[in-house]
Amino acid sequence: MTALKENLDRLEEAIAAACRAANRARAEVELMAVSKTFPAEAVVEALSLNLALFGENRVQEFTAKSHELGDARPRLRCHLIGHLQSNKSARAAELFDGVDSLDSLRLAERLSEAAGKCAKRLPVLLEIKLSHEATKTGLDPASADAAQLLERLPDLPQLELHGLMTVAPLGAGEQGTRDCFRALRALRDRWAAAYSRLNFAVLSMGMSGDFALAIAEGATRIRVGSALFGSRPALRP
Ligand SMILES: *Cc1c(COP(=O)(O)O)cnc(C)c1O
Repeated sequence: MTALKENLDRLEEAIAAACRAANRARAEVELMAVSKTFPAEAVVEALSLNLALFGENRVQEFTAKSHELGDARPRLRCHLIGHLQSNKSARAAELFDGVDSLDSLRLAERLSEAAGKCAKRLPVLLEIKLSHEATKTGLDPASADAAQLLERLPDLPQLELHGLMTVAPLGAGEQGTRDCFRALRALRDRWAAAYSRLNFAVLSMGMSGDFALAIAEGATRIRVGSALFGSRPALRP
């Protein structure tokens, strides 16, 4: 058995246990394999183990990897989960099957225009910032930009809102992490009630270290990298 297969088996057991503890069906939680920094061969092996949804955090890195994937590329869905600068939105719209890190009105407008040019409807998640870490990206849900973006989204037909995404603050501890996930779910419920033309079905939260808490708090998609592929070399900021 390969290391990836072993890791996946172990991960699936932990996901199943978290679902049981939360009284949820395994089918309610989608597993995204975060393949950033790992080579195309790792993605191909993951595909052979029936993983189909992948997360990458850089446009440039996935441009190269996408070429290497060749024939395998159409068999997977790959979403951008890292911060997107609006000057890279054309490339991102072409390259990815979804953008889970939409965090401003300006980016939404650029991305919608870019998706239109490649005759694509692009699934998106709003990345929400729920803590005040200076380094953290994401949309402040109480900001004027958030309000304007939510008003504007129904008129951007090339973007298809599917829900919300967040990353728990680093070193928040179990309670802080739980609070963050709970806050995302509460925000989702509030926005779903207030913006009936928009779809908020997806709650993407939880990574290798905290996916069980996220499942307990209602995650419908977890994003797992190192628990599947192994530890990564330190990332550039
Ligand atoms: C890297 C990354 C993950 C996966 O992190 P692991 O701790 O390796 O599971 C999930 N979400 C985002 C946004 C990431 O950048």
